[in-house]
Amino acid sequence: MPSFFLKTYGCQMNERDSEALACLLEQHGMTPATSEEDADVIILNTCSVRDQAERKAIGKAGLLKRLKAAKPELVIGIIGCMAQNRGEDLLAELPHLDFVAGTDRLAVVPDLIEQALSGRRRQADLARDAGPTPAEANGHQPGSISAMISVMRGCDQFCSYCIVPHTRGREHSRPIPEIVAEATRLAAAGTREILLLGQNITAYGLAEIRRQDQSRPSSDVSPFADLLEALNDVPGLARIRFTSPHVGFMNDRFVDAVCRLPKVCKAFHVPLQSGSDRTLAMMRRSYTAAEYRDRIAAIRSRLPEVAFSTDVIVGFPTETDEDFRRTRELMAEIAFDMAYIFRYSPRTGTKAAEKFPDDVPEDVKHERNQLLLDDLEQAAAVRNRSFQGRVLEVLVEGVSKRNPDRWTGRSDLNKTCNFAPVAGLEPGALAPFRVLRTSANSLVGEIVLA
Ligand code: SF4
Repeated sequence: MPSFFLKTYGCQMNERDSEALACLLEQHGMTPATSEEDADVIILNTCSVRDQAERKAIGKAGLLKRLKAAKPELVIGIIGCMAQNRGEDLLAELPHLDFVAGTDRLAVVPDLIEQALSGRRRQADLARDAGPTPAEANGHQPGSISAMISVMRGCDQFCSYCIVPHTRGREHSRPIPEIVAEATRLAAAGTREILLLGQNITAYGLAEIRRQDQSRPSSDVSPFADLLEALNDVPGLARIRFTSPHVGFMNDRFVDAVCRLPKVCKAFHVPLQSGSDRTLAMMRRSYTAAEYRDRIAAIRSRLPEVAFSTDVIVGFPTETDEDFRRTRELMAEIAFDMAYIFRYSPRTGTKAAEKFPDDVPEDVKHERNQLLLDDLEQAAAVRNRSFQGRVLEVLVEGVSKRNPDRWTGRSDLNKTCNFAPVAGLEPGALAPFRVLRTSANSLVGEIVLA
């Protein structure tokens, strides 16, 4: 039976696709290889969000030429966003490549591999599906305490800087019963936490309403809140997380559900992108800084304790010192626990790349990036110090990847908690953890024995 090696670039959506594809290949009789050198099939699951991510994957694909020269029967494929974006060009650019499969084509990858193994022509399959990912392409590797579930595909927002709607296509949501069945199977097999994935997860189910009724859904409807309510009742599940919401879709129904449902973790990743209304409008983000503040305040007013994280872009075209100051001030005001800061890079095919010159110098982008990172580190250190001496409930994950003598877990607020292993404590348990030391990135402490 042929063996396969999958290398994944980019976001959690890609990680999830790779996990599902690995299951699918195993169902087709293939076995996972431990290294590229041992594999009969190598697949790169690629990202297009930034130029650097594409260059990395192209560089990697180029390096595989040597392996193919030494082993001509080796099959090499590229899937994911860059595959969708560049399609046939990749086959022309990389003569040792056997197939390219677009973001909707996960389910046909076993077939493409079979054709390549039997020596048929090189091909690119970039077709778009008219619905959500077929159920057979939603498998999970067994045994994880925390599992990702992809609840929808695509995005209809077309933020001006973003390539995702071009690579992942229009929104398609999976039906609630199918997702609940998947979560129930996972929980029965020992999963305690699920992470729901969608590019704009707060738009879950809205495109289906629009397609059915040919009308805009009313502003107090939130099929995503309905989904959370259904998942909250799944026996055995302890925690539900999700990423990423969009402030323009966080209506009161959504706010009520995430605050009220006990299994929904009170740590929310809410992309901000900029604190300047002028920049937000150029980004086509559909909310203002005041609206962002309002939604954060609506959640804070309902919860005694909550953590927020975010995404921010610095150096968007024409971003002035004043625009940046507004971003910095808003970030300080919200006091995020964590943030991903990105330096703007134009992506071919997006509105921003077509309409606006990339006119903020790289050294200015770099400086703004660094300022925000420094602010964040200081704020996170102060925030984490506030946990000193407290007892938090952690979901035990097992041996720490960084230190084999330590175990690790996460608090409801998504804080990494490190502690010495305790006899009888198993991964998947919810345990009381006393915080003894803190840093900007993690908490160190001990499990409180009864
Ligand atoms: S909401 Fe905007 S940034 Fe997020 S995936 Fe959609 S287009 Fe991209």
